Amino acid sequence: MCLISKNFSKSDAVPTLDDFAKLSTTLYTSISSFKQGNLPHTLLLLGDSGTGKLSFAKLLAQMLFCESVDNKPCLSCTACNKIDKDIHTGLILLGANREDSTIKIDDIRELILELSSYGIESSLRMVIIADAHRMTVQAQNALLKSLEEPNRDCYFILTSSNEKALLPTVISRCTQLRLPLWSKDKLISELTEHGVEPYKADEIASLSGGSIGKALVYANDDSFRELLQLFEDSFLSLNDEKSVAYASSKLKNSKDDGDMLINLLETYTTKLLKKADNSQALKGINNMLSAIATARKWQSSNVSWQATADYLLFHTLEDLSICR
Ligand SMILES: [Zn+2]
Repeated sequence: MCLISKNFSKSDAVPTLDDFAKLSTTLYTSISSFKQGNLPHTLLLLGDSGTGKLSFAKLLAQMLFCESVDNKPCLSCTACNKIDKDIHTGLILLGANREDSTIKIDDIRELILELSSYGIESSLRMVIIADAHRMTVQAQNALLKSLEEPNRDCYFILTSSNEKALLPTVISRCTQLRLPLWSKDKLISELTEHGVEPYKADEIASLSGGSIGKALVYANDDSFRELLQLFEDSFLSLNDEKSVAYASSKLKNSKDDGDMLINLLETYTTKLLKKADNSQALKGINNMLSAIATARKWQSSNVSWQATADYLLFHTLEDLSICR
């Protein structure tokens, strides 16, 4: 069986069930109901990539196994910690090993066998099938019976960003719940609640494309904070050609962060676009956006990062100085 627990990236910063409850009335109502002991035995979590489906599923697993008397999941008891580390024996995480691979019928057969090996003695368990649309048709068919008649102590959560690849018979056997992308405003307020300074929260929210998971990772990642600092010390500190040379030397060793620096520059430029109040400023910003598009092309060709960085620094000085 392809247990994928080791492939999941770890972060101390994950949204909580209360964070998700703020996203929509449906989520608020469903989460309240789950907390009152009404977790469905077969749940299908739908939503775009980055909406936190897997984090949400694991929070529900923590809620189910939590040893705290109230306010489950407490996120601090042994069970909550074990689920966070993917080492809880009651939780089975199943998924495709690689981006391009599938979950095969043998994986599902092995899963069913494992579930039956728990024996007659009742013991709570949860199966999370991540990216369930990666199951082959045969695998989905093999799972049907388990979804239709789950043991009363067994819970299935399937996550998917592509419900069209799921059999209608699989979908109809599950309670469906959709996780929306986070609006920029919701992300900013969430980040500031997590102690992120407002101007950084704005930057991070723009870069994370509606993904709360990504936003919290950025906010708590020291290297991302360093990157923001580098961006400020280089692109945002230009006032003459001498400062360009200085910024260029600062960017010399940041080849691996090149794409992210370009994203930061684009976010910054787009923000200026909203504030531009004269034709000269607008012209400069449009020139800058074309330069960013060119830089992106260069990044996927053989142009050196230093050449790309210098090109962007000169454009930033020339095109954006009027807006600042
Ligand atoms: Zn707990």
